[in-house]
Amino acid sequence: TNFETLGVSKQIVATLSQLGIETPTPIQEKAIPLLLEGRDLIGLAQTGTGKTAAFGLPLIERLLAEDRRPDNRTTRSLILAPTRELVNQIAANLKTFIKGRPLKINLVVGGVSINKQQLQLEKGTDILVATPGRLLDLVARRAIGLTTVRFLVLDEADQMLDLGFVHDLRKIAKIVPKKRQTMLFSATMPKAIADLAAEFLTDPVKVEV
Ligand code: AMP
Repeated sequence: TNFETLGVSKQIVATLSQLGIETPTPIQEKAIPLLLEGRDLIGLAQTGTGKTAAFGLPLIERLLAEDRRPDNRTTRSLILAPTRELVNQIAANLKTFIKGRPLKINLVVGGVSINKQQLQLEKGTDILVATPGRLLDLVARRAIGLTTVRFLVLDEADQMLDLGFVHDLRKIAKIVPKKRQTMLFSATMPKAIADLAAEFLTDPVKVEV
């Protein structure tokens, strides 16, 4: 199997090739076709399995297919992760995949100037990678609109619950539209995660590696 047979476009395949990424990992092989179809998905996978590309590549494809630049202060897709380090890592990884494409990526994390972040967000974002707490701070300031989010990713959901983000996640879920594609990734699947998935996802497929 290669990325083209999974449904990834020639242009992105060429970018991946330049990055030395030729053969899909198991989570990518299973998740990419389902996500390109628009399904909601629960992915049981650890870091290092290539899960960022597993959700990132279909996300990028679907955003490019929509061919719509964001309006002011609106966000087309939202990736939530538990820590600043992980947000940075996801954003850096996705940046390599969107090289040369008309997609804008922004990140929002605690511990840095909120005013600076607010300025960066004024023109809207195609892909926003964020920790839940700081995101809600910026929503409260009306620096970010989430009412146009079509794709929502919850990464390392078990860690987000462990860190006490469940209330923030519920608040965010109330703001983003119901009509969206949602992906949840977790290294473990305790009952709390299954409950969260039941709350956030619609008729999801489960993929395990
Ligand atoms: P992740 O599990 O998403 O944190 O990815 C771990 C690392 O593997 C990242 O640096 C990716 O760029 C890289 N990677 C992702 N998919 C592949 C692949 N199919 N082949 C080789 N490297 C990959």
